[in-house]
Amino acid sequence: MNSDNQKKRPIILGNWKMNKSLKEGVQYARSLKAAIAGKSGIICGICPPYVFLKDICAVLEGSTICVSAQNMHSEASGAFTGEIAAPMLKEVGCSHVLVGHSERRHIFGEDDFFINDKIKKAISFELVPILCIGETLEEREAGNTKDVVLRQLKNGLRGVGIEVIKCIIIAYEPVWAIGTGRTASPEQANEVHSFIRTILSEDYGKDIAKKLSIIYGGSVKADNTGALIHQPEIDGLLVGGASLELESFLTIIEVLQGVDF
Ligand code: PEP
Repeated sequence: MNSDNQKKRPIILGNWKMNKSLKEGVQYARSLKAAIAGKSGIICGICPPYVFLKDICAVLEGSTICVSAQNMHSEASGAFTGEIAAPMLKEVGCSHVLVGHSERRHIFGEDDFFINDKIKKAISFELVPILCIGETLEEREAGNTKDVVLRQLKNGLRGVGIEVIKCIIIAYEPVWAIGTGRTASPEQANEVHSFIRTILSEDYGKDIAKKLSIIYGGSVKADNTGALIHQPEIDGLLVGGASLELESFLTIIEVLQGVDF
């Protein structure tokens, strides 16, 4: 995403989860494309449900808006009824894919090893994986935030070499802040981001770690965007609920565009 001599641009991703009709999704994509045409200061993307991806990629062709899937399987093909593979996502025009979202981990029981296989498969098909990590409320209250984040990060990136790590985005999403209206304070989020960057520095070197984008997700709205994005270690935002209405997503984008990175 960031070439070596390019300034890091803030990332904003809207995760629609299992919402919208095809008609609504296409209309949203058209309006988003028109609204951010010519604005190059940020990297903007949306994560629609699988069955809308082809139509939405077609609408967004020629724009700078990235299309990300919300999930994928770790195998490229095979007897996995109901699943979707990386080459399929690539074929319909996706550039990114969320991997290890907390709803996948906690509702569908995905573990770090499955997630790691998906990360490696996404990279091999030239999709940018967005590795989502974060602790539950119980884990935070027990003082285990860093242990959990460390484990998810290390396991998620196992076998991911220095030559491809640049293709990855890390999303820190505390589970207790997702869809709850309860956001991590900017300082709490920054502290974990800083910890993640330290781990990445140890594993991949300081220069590479500095260039990697670590984005925050968990009840982001227009009114907390400014405070979050001003934190030095927060490189962008993953937005669920507040991305569903285009107006609300555009207000967040406007705040980001006003920030001098
Ligand atoms: C998400 O789905 O990744 C998310 C952060 O959701 P919300 O913004 O609704 O908390």
